[in-house]
Amino acid sequence: MAEFTMELSEEQREIQGWLHGFAADVIRPAAAEWDEREETPWPVIQEAAKLGIYSLDFYAQQFFDPSGLGIPMTMEELFWGDAGIALSIVGTGLAAVGVLANGTEEQIGTWVPQMYGDPSDVKVAAFCSSEPDAGSDVSAMRTRAVYDEAKDEWVLNGTKTWATNGGIAHVHVVVAVVDPELGSKGQASFIVPPGTAGLSQGQKFKKHGIRASHTAEVVLEDVRVPGHCLLGGKEKLEERLARARERARTGGGRLKNAAMATFEASRPAVGAQAVGIARAAYEVALDYAKTREQFGRPIIDNQGVAFQLADMRTQIDAARLLVWRASWMASARKPFESAEGSMSKLFAGETAKKVTAQAMQILGGNGYTREYPVERMHRDAAIYTIFEGTSEIQRLVIARTLAGVPIR
Ligand SMILES: Cc1cc2nc3c(=O)[nH]c(=O)nc-3n(C[C@H](O)[C@H](O)[C@H](O)COP(=O)(O)OP(=O)(O)OC[C@H]3O[C@@H](n4cnc5c(N)ncnc54)[C@H](O)[C@@H]3O)c2cc1C
Repeated sequence: MAEFTMELSEEQREIQGWLHGFAADVIRPAAAEWDEREETPWPVIQEAAKLGIYSLDFYAQQFFDPSGLGIPMTMEELFWGDAGIALSIVGTGLAAVGVLANGTEEQIGTWVPQMYGDPSDVKVAAFCSSEPDAGSDVSAMRTRAVYDEAKDEWVLNGTKTWATNGGIAHVHVVVAVVDPELGSKGQASFIVPPGTAGLSQGQKFKKHGIRASHTAEVVLEDVRVPGHCLLGGKEKLEERLARARERARTGGGRLKNAAMATFEASRPAVGAQAVGIARAAYEVALDYAKTREQFGRPIIDNQGVAFQLADMRTQIDAARLLVWRASWMASARKPFESAEGSMSKLFAGETAKKVTAQAMQILGGNGYTREYPVERMHRDAAIYTIFEGTSEIQRLVIARTLAGVPIR
């Protein structure tokens, strides 16, 4: 049995230092500019690609780190730099996880490398599940995938919304309904290859935070993709649908759907992003509280300020521990029997929102201006109680798991 330790290995610390350097020297100085521009920071992604930080190899290496801490450590450092830019760098990962969670080995080998491109020609990918009428309730999804047997093609029709990198992606992963009678169990994921006719970008959203990250609608009009673009393959789909029909008939057991499988796998990583934002805001507030003087002494000498910082730091450390536990469990293939992945995302997301608000308060008037980064961090943190399952939905998942009630 492996010795228990909560210390990162020397190699992990080296990678952490390298990522931190990139976050401090490249991401942080560019943060305000790309937040104002509200555009994908291609030059920063290219720089990350040149250094190997935006590459399939790097994420695969971190993903397969046996401790499970490679991905959360990476997320925390990059998002410490800036959340909008970091999401532009790691957003492709959600689509990659969609393929890893549902695809065959051949599909993974074919499509995931294309999602990243190469340093001289970087690409991004998008995962498209949410729809205007299907956010928290994925079973309300309407985008249809119909099989055209004569041509061995799937025909996709519908409108996706809120897709990170939607419309600018090289590869889109689209979740669609193949059997409407089965609700969320009748869904499957499809690759939409580059340049496929019928896929277009709808509205690009102007957002409160993470403004460097591109979020848009994706419209699918008679989009035809080859049969091999169905993730997992037709045989596996037919088996899964037959099991779901049997369960629907007999009223038994649970089955996962395609979108849920992606979100479950990615929740601790998203929690780690929130930890990075919270830590960044806390550090700014701590420095400020030590140097800002009022009434003839640094404001940290007031218990009212110092206790806030004590609570902020405690909550950040607690959030990180929940994220690390869930990440370790996932890598050790231990099932989330108490919804530990959702717990980590819930607590880290709420912590980021709270801690960034406290940081703004500690900076007083300065905290409220764009001269200091904490108001941006607070705007960025707000998404962490909304996307990848709102805080209410995380509570619902945790509560239903504890109660032993199936999660729809
Ligand atoms: C910036 C951004 C990026 C995103 N990126 C992606 C992406 O790349 N791919 C993708 O597929 N999606 C993405 N999303 C979508 C995101 O996951 C959804 O916004 C989220 O799941 C919530 O859905 P909704 O916005 O429709 O809210 P709704 O589901 O309409 O929820 C509205 C409110 O009602 C609450 N609520 C709903 N049902 C319940 C319930 N049963 N019990 C208690 N409260 C409930 C919610 O918690 C929330 O507070 C993104 C969203 C944003 C804003």
